[in-house]
Amino acid sequence: MLDKKTNILCTLGPACESPLVLRQMVRSGMDAVRLNTAHGSFEQHARLIRAVRRIADLPIVVDIKGPEVRIESSQELRLEKGDTLDVGFTKKHPVYFTRDIYSQIQAGDDLSIYDGLIKTRVSDKRRGVVTLRIIEGGCFKGNKGVNIPGRHLDIPVIGERDRQALRMALHEKADFIALSFVRDASDLQELRRHLAGRKVGLIAKIENAEGVRKINEIILAADGIMVARGDLGVEVPAEKLPLIQKDIILKSNIQGKFSIVATEMLKSMVESSRPTRAETSDVANAVLDGADTVMLSEETSIGKHPVESVWTMAKILKEAEPYVQNRMPQVRSESIHASIAKAVYDICQHLPVDKIVTLTRSGHTARLISRFRLHKDIIAITNDHSVKRRLGLSYGVTALVYDDMPAREKIRNSALFLHKKGLIKPDETVLFTAGIYTDREHATNIIQIHRIREFMAYCRRHG
Ligand code: PGA
Ligand code: MN
Repeated sequence: MLDKKTNILCTLGPACESPLVLRQMVRSGMDAVRLNTAHGSFEQHARLIRAVRRIADLPIVVDIKGPEVRIESSQELRLEKGDTLDVGFTKKHPVYFTRDIYSQIQAGDDLSIYDGLIKTRVSDKRRGVVTLRIIEGGCFKGNKGVNIPGRHLDIPVIGERDRQALRMALHEKADFIALSFVRDASDLQELRRHLAGRKVGLIAKIENAEGVRKINEIILAADGIMVARGDLGVEVPAEKLPLIQKDIILKSNIQGKFSIVATEMLKSMVESSRPTRAETSDVANAVLDGADTVMLSEETSIGKHPVESVWTMAKILKEAEPYVQNRMPQVRSESIHASIAKAVYDICQHLPVDKIVTLTRSGHTARLISRFRLHKDIIAITNDHSVKRRLGLSYGVTALVYDDMPAREKIRNSALFLHKKGLIKPDETVLFTAGIYTDREHATNIIQIHRIREFMAYCRRHG
């Protein structure tokens, strides 16, 4: 496995169901998994989650579809320019939309299918059926996304299928829920209400113009952001994507939230065993933009080369990371823990610190330090297994669970623990942060810097 700082989030599916393939993906650099509940049954998803858990303790992301519209056809459809296609709204129709938007569609609307591949215009609607005229043809089968660019659709955030998906996610103790087509902060608050107070991280998928417009409030309300380029590239002009990506990443960074760049990163590897040059550049550029995590979709879920895709991505990340620039997000440090994080940044500008160890209850301090991109390993120590897994989507953070941390001896005990594990070494200078004399979260209030050889000798002398 390559020791890299950017995380690889893999969408699971039929191509990687076998434990053997999953194990190889972990060895090749898979750091987290996504279950896309648009496809498959919840039993399959639950089974996959358990299969992953037997192999590695990775963050599990359950992706729910939110106010997303999809089109379902059991037969393969080959559509040519000029054809018409009738689409209903219930399973009784051979082809149907998954959400009831009949009253909100008008003749003349532009509607596209399958990440914009098939372009259509609504030519008629009557008795619960919409007729589409095909403008650009293509083939599709099964369940594909539908976009009506620019249209605000009045659809409940959590539909019946998502409710079931959430039940499965909570039952399987997923670490994150990713909500598709987030429109504003209230969509995330609505999702929170369905989570019954459980500690699950929320990832906001930015997939349309509305999400881009409300990005600031969405970032504040979410734990992480996904630049969901598949749908976003249809909902807004595709040429705007590269700059929207940079902007969303920077803004997430400033708020100490992680960002994920998704979709078509190594698309040609669905078929081919090698990526295109453009794809290689895309992955590298996402890292240089400041992404914490990059995602594989069809490459790992239904592609021919799931393991090679992960390995290819890992190699590109490893090459790009040394060129990531230090970032000093322009935010005022008005809280104690943010001031500590800022001080860590300042110290690391001059003092040759080898590693940063943060003792963290919620993971917050680790994320605030990670966003600076200091080119140093950040080891986060927490006593909470779910915090540990959730940190698995943040750049450069290795999280460990260790709970023998009596208030006053926290740093000493964790240093001994890390030293024993070989994670900090005698010739290293290590910067520690912790919150002492407090039980609150977000309460990091001290920095200590130790030369490990001397520190260990001191600990031995003083029992
Ligand atoms: P999806 O989301 O794969 O769930 O559609 C990602 C995207 O739209 O890019
Ligand atoms: Mn999408």
